Amino acid sequence: CGIIGYIGDRAACEVIVKGLKRLEYRGYDSAGVVTEDGGKLFIKKGAGAIDELTEKLGLLEMPGKRGIGHTRWATHGVPNEINAHPHTDCTGKIALVHNGIIENFAEIREYLLSLGHTFKSDTDTEVIAHLIEEELKSAPSFEDAMRNALLKLRGSFALGIIYAEEPDRLYFVRNESPLVLGIGDGENFAASDVPAFLEYTNRAVFLDDGEYAVIGKDFYVIKKLATGEVVEKPVQEIEWT
Ligand code: GLU
Repeated sequence: CGIIGYIGDRAACEVIVKGLKRLEYRGYDSAGVVTEDGGKLFIKKGAGAIDELTEKLGLLEMPGKRGIGHTRWATHGVPNEINAHPHTDCTGKIALVHNGIIENFAEIREYLLSLGHTFKSDTDTEVIAHLIEEELKSAPSFEDAMRNALLKLRGSFALGIIYAEEPDRLYFVRNESPLVLGIGDGENFAASDVPAFLEYTNRAVFLDDGEYAVIGKDFYVIKKLATGEVVEKPVQEIEWT
């Protein structure tokens, strides 16, 4: 299973589909992509192999210069189109992908159902999108809402998160599931593993557990999930072999 995210000036879908191919070695049963263009999210997903889905769903025709791709190894819910990631909230403005397991998803789901949320999938992942949506009602910013929501989760997660109303950024979170940033020139990447973006940049910043990154075309910042405090991390040059 794997995650690849891109923000810059290229067609995001091309970078993402290539990245997903490079992550195939990690194993998966389904895959999906979200891109954003003109403040609108575009999502395509399904069960099967990347090449097959690229053809069948037209993954390389998705608009936009930022987006996130995912390969899923199902733990909660059968491998099918509905359970494939990305998952969205009720408004459809928040989309996210997840590798790992949310241990307390059942109680969060009960809580959200009692507040009137409706769920489309059988995954543990979908509760995260709805929990952020719920937090957004009272938080001063999307980032705060995301932090508040994620602090309520128990389990392992690497996450890629996109919010339609913040066109200049993507969020990536690491907790007991790997995530690394790729630092480019006027573009940035995030992935489960370096090969996913090595074709474009060999400058990498590795996240540690309990950290999240906000990446834009011309900036990136890494913070602690618990406090929101900025963490300075070294950029490592990966050997091109
Ligand atoms: N637990 C999530 C699911 O079953 C994510 C699985 C994964 O790591 O790909 O959908």
